[in-house]
Amino acid sequence: MSDDGSRAKETIVIVGSGPAGWTAAVYAARADLDPLVIEGSFSRTMIPGGQLMFTTEVENYPGFKDGVDGQTLMMDMKAQAVRFGTRVLTEDVVEIDPGARPFRLVTTSGSEVRADAVIIATGANAKWLDLPNEQRLAKSGGGVSACAVCDGALPHFREKVLAVVGGGDTAMEDALYLTKFAKEVVIVHRRGELRASRIMAERAQASEKIRFELNKVVTEVYGDDVITGIRLQDTGTGEEADLEVGGLFVAIGHHPNTGFLEGVVDLKENGYVATPVSWRTQTSVEGIFAAGDVMDDYYRQAVTAAGTGCMAALEAERWLAHGGPGGHE
Ligand code: NAP
Repeated sequence: MSDDGSRAKETIVIVGSGPAGWTAAVYAARADLDPLVIEGSFSRTMIPGGQLMFTTEVENYPGFKDGVDGQTLMMDMKAQAVRFGTRVLTEDVVEIDPGARPFRLVTTSGSEVRADAVIIATGANAKWLDLPNEQRLAKSGGGVSACAVCDGALPHFREKVLAVVGGGDTAMEDALYLTKFAKEVVIVHRRGELRASRIMAERAQASEKIRFELNKVVTEVYGDDVITGIRLQDTGTGEEADLEVGGLFVAIGHHPNTGFLEGVVDLKENGYVATPVSWRTQTSVEGIFAAGDVMDDYYRQAVTAAGTGCMAALEAERWLAHGGPGGHE
């Protein structure tokens, strides 16, 4: 075994450390597969533990009747996986050779890890507007969020005017969801036409609590500890105006963390990992499985990520038990 705890050949390597990765690790470890989790490194936009590390309060993860903060949830998931013997490498995977058996993974430091089976669980990142105060208030739990379903029900947002940015289905769905708690929801969209499906757009348009600011972009987010307002700019006239809001929900899409997977496994048109058989986590390459937001462009919840992490570990375990890579050697 090397200094970092990795072995000459791993049975299973899990790449990523969100709910999908740690759940896969718990299952794999308890099945005596002795998993290695390559948890990712610290960067400006991502840290080991994934998106939940930036979430203050998680109220929809079952088992926590009073809610749990995102960091605690992720640290506990990691501790649970480690308790069963999971080893952890704090690096990014930059390359996977899908033709090699065992698979060959290369990490940021140039180390090579060989593995019979691989579970990809590198997640997705919400797109942000990239305004300085937006990022600060999102990280501090100051009323800026990229997940209405996760955060919208928090007391902070009750009876406030809330802004939702985006013109797609997520923005419509988020806005409709937020009408349960908000005094008013203002959808800010950069064009005059919505991208959302007709049915979702019509639902939002029919809501008495929703109004639209079309052809507008957010140019500034105001607030010290909590958001107090945003500045809107008309994309046609360039005119600017302030809007007082008690919350800002950014719903402009996600991008999956699949940059290192180009040419490794099949990706869908939108960049998410394709899992060709429904209710399975097997990718286009036998022995490489995918779990969590990296393969889920639809639900994107911590609990569904954990669920697919469990599925990937069970599927990998069964694949290994039925010959696994042996058939290829
Ligand atoms: P999306 O369809 O890509 O829409 C993103 C929206 O954000 C677009 O309106 C886009 O504007 C806007 N946008 C992107 N970058 C922006 C920026 N920098 N500044 C301002 N606005 C920006 O993403 P989505 O709404 O998350 O949906 C993703 C997929 O999931 C879609 O296929 C959708 O149909 C599906 N979905 C379905 C449901 C449902 O059926 N209930 C619910 C949620 C999501 P432009 O229009 O100008 O490009």
